[in-house]
Amino acid sequence: MAKMTKRTECFMARTIGFIGLGLMGRGMARTLIRKGHRVSLYNRTRAKAEEVASLGGKVAATPAEAAREAEVVFTMVSDPPALFEVVESKDGILDTIRPGAVVIDSSTVSPQATLRVAERLKAKGASMLDAPVFGSKNEAESGQLGFMIGGDRKVFDSVQDLFEGCLGKSARYIGPQGMGAYAKLVFNLTICIMLQGLNEGLTLAAKAGIDPGLMYDVLMGGRAKAGIFEFKGPSVLQRDFTPFFPLKLMNKDLKLALDAAHALAVPMPALAAIKEVFSSAMAAGQAEEDFSSTIKVLERQAGVEVKRRS
Ligand code: NAP
Repeated sequence: MAKMTKRTECFMARTIGFIGLGLMGRGMARTLIRKGHRVSLYNRTRAKAEEVASLGGKVAATPAEAAREAEVVFTMVSDPPALFEVVESKDGILDTIRPGAVVIDSSTVSPQATLRVAERLKAKGASMLDAPVFGSKNEAESGQLGFMIGGDRKVFDSVQDLFEGCLGKSARYIGPQGMGAYAKLVFNLTICIMLQGLNEGLTLAAKAGIDPGLMYDVLMGGRAKAGIFEFKGPSVLQRDFTPFFPLKLMNKDLKLALDAAHALAVPMPALAAIKEVFSSAMAAGQAEEDFSSTIKVLERQAGVEVKRRS
C-alpha cells in the first residue's frame, strides 16, 4: 500500500488520471497527490509511475485504466504523436473516458493536434482544455506553474481549483479550443529569440576580451534585464547544461511555431534563423541538454567559451 501524505490546500479532493510522468508530469502529479487528490498514474516507462506512486496514488497499466474512474485526466507528454498515442491508440483514454470528464492537456502541441483530440473526446461526451504551461520542473514540483487555457470557459471554471492555488500560480483563459496551444508557441518563440540575443551578445563580449560574467552583470543592471536571462544566464556562465527543458523539446516547439506562422502567413525571420541554430545543436548531439546549450553553436563558430571568469 503506497504511503499517503497529508492533504494541504486544494479545495476538493478529485479522482484524477495522470498520464505522462516525465520531467514535468512527475512534479505535477506529485503536487496533486500531496494536495490530497486520488491520482491514478500512467507512464509508458512504468518505473517512473512506480516512483511517483511511492508518495501516494496508484499505478495504472494503460492510459485507459488511468482514465476509467477519473473525473479529470491530465496529459503531459512530449509532442503531438505522443498525445495521439495516449488518447487514440488501443488502451488509450478514448476507450474508457467517462461522459462529463475533462481532459486537461498540458503538453506543448500544435493547435491542430488539440482540435483533433478535442473532437474525438467530444464524441464520447467528454471535454478538453488545452492548458500548456510555463515554468519548469521546479515550478511543477512546487505548484507554481503558469497555465494558458484554451477551450470552453465553463469547463475551465469547473476545474479552476486544479489550476491557481494547486498546480499553478496563474491560469489565464486565452480563448476557444486551440488558443492555449497558440499562446504557448508564442511564449516559447519569444523566449528563444530573447535568449539568442543574450547568447550573441555574450559571445561577442568573450571574443572581444570582456569577462562574459561581467558583461552579464552589466546587462542585468540595465534595461536588458529579463526573466529568461535571470533563469538561464547563471547556469550558462557556469557551463551547466543540466536539462530543465531539453533542447529536443524546444526544437519541437520552434518547429510547431514556424508551422503555425506559415499557416497564418505571418513572417518570422528571427524565428526561422533561430530554428537553424537549434537544428545545428541537434545535429551536434545536444538534444538531451538544456535548450540554453544553443550557445555552444555560436561558441564553436567563434572559437571562444562563454564562461564567468570572476
Ligand atoms: P519528458 O521528460 O521528455 O517527458 C515526456 C513524457 O512523454 C514521458 O512521460 C514519456 O514517456 C512520454 N511519452 C513520449 N512519447 C510517448 C509515446 N509515444 N507514448 C506515450 N508516452 C510518451 O518531457 P517534459 O519536460 O516532461 O515535457 C512534457 C511536455 O511539457 C512537452 O510537451 C514539453 O514541450 C512541455 N513543457 C516542458 C517544460 C520543461 O521545462 N521541461 C516546460 C513547459 C512545457 P517515457 O517516460 O516512457 O519516455
